[in-house]
Amino acid sequence: MNSEAAARLKAAVGPKGFTEDQAEIAPHLEEWRSKYKGRAALLLKPATTAEVSAILSICNETTTPVVPQAGNTGLVGGQIPFDNEILLSLSRLNRIRRLDAVDASMIAEAGVILAAAQRAADDSGLMLPLSLAAEGSCTIGGTLSTNAGGLNVLRYGMAREQVLGIEAVLADGRVLNLLRTLRKDNTGYDLKQLFIGAEGTLGIVTAAALKLFPKPAMRCTAFVAVPSIDAAVGLLARLQAATGGLVNAFEILPRSGLELVLAYIPGTSDPFAASSPWYALAEVSGAAALKDVFEGALEGALSNGLTGDAVIAASEAQRAALWMLRESMSEAQKKEGPSLKHDVSVPVAAVADFVAKATAAVSAALPGARPVPFGHLGDGNIHFNIQAARGADMASFLARWDEIARVVHDVVRDFGGSFSAEHGIGVMKRADLKRYKSEVEIDLMRALKRTLDPKNILNPGKLVPE
Ligand code: ZN
Repeated sequence: MNSEAAARLKAAVGPKGFTEDQAEIAPHLEEWRSKYKGRAALLLKPATTAEVSAILSICNETTTPVVPQAGNTGLVGGQIPFDNEILLSLSRLNRIRRLDAVDASMIAEAGVILAAAQRAADDSGLMLPLSLAAEGSCTIGGTLSTNAGGLNVLRYGMAREQVLGIEAVLADGRVLNLLRTLRKDNTGYDLKQLFIGAEGTLGIVTAAALKLFPKPAMRCTAFVAVPSIDAAVGLLARLQAATGGLVNAFEILPRSGLELVLAYIPGTSDPFAASSPWYALAEVSGAAALKDVFEGALEGALSNGLTGDAVIAASEAQRAALWMLRESMSEAQKKEGPSLKHDVSVPVAAVADFVAKATAAVSAALPGARPVPFGHLGDGNIHFNIQAARGADMASFLARWDEIARVVHDVVRDFGGSFSAEHGIGVMKRADLKRYKSEVEIDLMRALKRTLDPKNILNPGKLVPE
């Protein structure tokens, strides 16, 4: 970075808006799995959209690359500056600019923590359904820039489906203000969508208008023993039919996954006396009367032999305990040792076949390795994670990540699935993008990148293949 550009950038944000203190920058250079580590000499912390605009206009003029970073919870290295780029944190853009309960919308700045946005919606008697494991530290800007998924996608859609409008700063510093809260606006290209899931490569999201929803009077959560993935898919169909589509989450984990949770996560216990090959976690929400419908559907599934035992949460504490079994999966896996992770999706009806074929393919390539597939069955999104064989050498196990990813992703392709269901591309899956997307798709992505960021200053080296 040239020193003249650095001086201008520092002047643009003022003394509170930057740091060169490596101790302060260090936590921004490594992601939580310690898979990626970067370097940066200058961290900018603008407090307003105007400051972001000034930064990008200087960066563009001086061809100074910049890596935007939100809560640093990304899983594919998209937020890490690998080449001493300027690191741009949006954490000081943290105001909720407007919340309109009648309009059922909220305008929040990029640095607002997702959990804070959820609380603000809740305080107004409404609900922001975006919800994911990292919600205590991820932010609105990062959540939208990566089009995060999470736990309520089945009912409310991915992040992009919950957005009414966007404010983004373009590479040349111009501010694109699309902060409308209209439900109907059929006026040509839907430009806001360009910046959602773009991982900061086409512009920097500085604020968003989000849809809010009525808060359900109650929610009902069950943990159900199921003999197979297909039985779980059958249960989901029954619950959707019985409730008129009011299932908000439908998750699955295998016995091996539950055992890891029980072994490593304090305070967890097996809800059932007998073990089961698979478990589903189902949650519905709506009017109070829905509880009887939900319980009736579960009883019907049990008496038909579709499922084994079920436990229904009778209190908020029990609900939290059931969710903990599912949400602790990543942490429990981490404690067991390194794992090869794959965030894939296939059509819901094909999940059972996919898991069988992928397990066979991985076992052939990596004898003794232990696949622990779990995730959002309702969305067809499986986290196909693989623990090393017991006693295996970890370095040589991890060295095979790319090779095994190809084995898994080739099976995904055979099912018409996606090699990145909710984690994005970053640096980790750029080669996959090239391998699995059509030439036409890649040409269009490159054309968009050239048009919106001709000097390639926005998060270079991420997402778009070389
Ligand atoms: Zn997930």
